[in-house]
Amino acid sequence: MHFFEYKKGELHAEDVPVSTLANEFGTPLYIYSFKTLERHVKAYEKAFSSIPHVICYALKANSNTSIIKLIGSLGGGADVVSGGELYRALKAGIPADKIAYAGVGKTEDEIRLALKSNILMFNVESEQELAEIDRIAGLMKTGAPIALRVNPDVDPQTHPYISTGLKKNKFGIPFEDAIEHYRLAAKLKNIRIVGIHKHIGSQLTKVSPFVDALKRILLLVDELSATGIRISHLDIGGGLGITYNDETPPDPAALAKNILPLLKGRDLTLVLEPGRSIVGNAGILVAKALYLKKAPEKNFIVVDAGMNDLIRPSIYGAYHHIQPVVKNRRKNTIADIVGPICESGDFLAKDREIQIVNRGELLAVMSAGAYGFTMSSQYNSRPRVAEVMVKGSEYALIRKRETYADLMKGETIARFV
Ligand SMILES: *Cc1c(COP(=O)(O)O)cnc(C)c1O
Repeated sequence: MHFFEYKKGELHAEDVPVSTLANEFGTPLYIYSFKTLERHVKAYEKAFSSIPHVICYALKANSNTSIIKLIGSLGGGADVVSGGELYRALKAGIPADKIAYAGVGKTEDEIRLALKSNILMFNVESEQELAEIDRIAGLMKTGAPIALRVNPDVDPQTHPYISTGLKKNKFGIPFEDAIEHYRLAAKLKNIRIVGIHKHIGSQLTKVSPFVDALKRILLLVDELSATGIRISHLDIGGGLGITYNDETPPDPAALAKNILPLLKGRDLTLVLEPGRSIVGNAGILVAKALYLKKAPEKNFIVVDAGMNDLIRPSIYGAYHHIQPVVKNRRKNTIADIVGPICESGDFLAKDREIQIVNRGELLAVMSAGAYGFTMSSQYNSRPRVAEVMVKGSEYALIRKRETYADLMKGETIARFV
């Protein structure tokens, strides 16, 4: 559900015509809808309101400060996976005690920053990491709150690249070893066990993998409690899918309906880490058609946005709806919609049926709010694009388009060249 709709044949972001924004800020351009973000955060808050909970928004989906700040103002926390994300979350005003820190490769500097900031918990992914956090906390004369990320070995039934909870994945501690690792953690002087964590993958479109994984995790919680290790925070990760094409993923209410009964009578604070389901459909990428090209076997629409701006189609074969910003009465055609980058993998859509487009016309790439800008790069020395947020008839530039000078920022010429 989102607030990008046609009014009199023109695509609007809430009450603002998309073409108005493209004219003012140029293209390519990311546009986010305030009301959509708000609706999604509130849907989570409402669904889980009957139990203690923290919605730790996964910053890696979209880490623009205005977006983090908005989510924080609605009561959300943050799930971070690097020192940089932790820095962003704190700068955007997320209370430290609502920040969970995951990731398989935390460095000493990052661990120090997190300890100094008094975060809610580290989601620990290996035995060595546990020992390292204990060592650093000891040096800093403090205690480190931790959850162990357990790999429940449940198939999330999603794309292999975004599946994380199987035995063969690099994430988490194997289910069979979890108890032993908790025993070890309990012996470490500077470690304070607060939780248990799992995250099995992204773009999940069914409830059953969440339920299956949770059941397995709860077995561990009970086993731990029997050995005197008490868990106060149960972090079930993120991963709820969105509609890109014709998927029908559960909404937060449906997730809650299936999950809350399993938690009845348990004294646990539930932590969720949604990313995509908060921002995915709250953003679009607007591109301009530069050239139309006919090859012997294909039609190409060359647009000014490339894989450096939105890489999901290239690396996951991901589908995004692409539609004209101003509807026309022309016939449909089949075309590849491609960017200007010098790579054959640079496409936004392949063999797509779309209304015939003329040069200079605008196209909207839908559901681009998650893993869009955050995965963008300057490849081919293309400045990263601007981002705008719309609320009703108001709008604001929330990140300036980079300049050519920005491309060279920080570079120096070596003495010997
Ligand atoms: C990526 C990630 C998330 C967010 O996943 P979504 O599919 O965007 O909801 C949450 N937790 C962890 C540990 C992650 O790596």
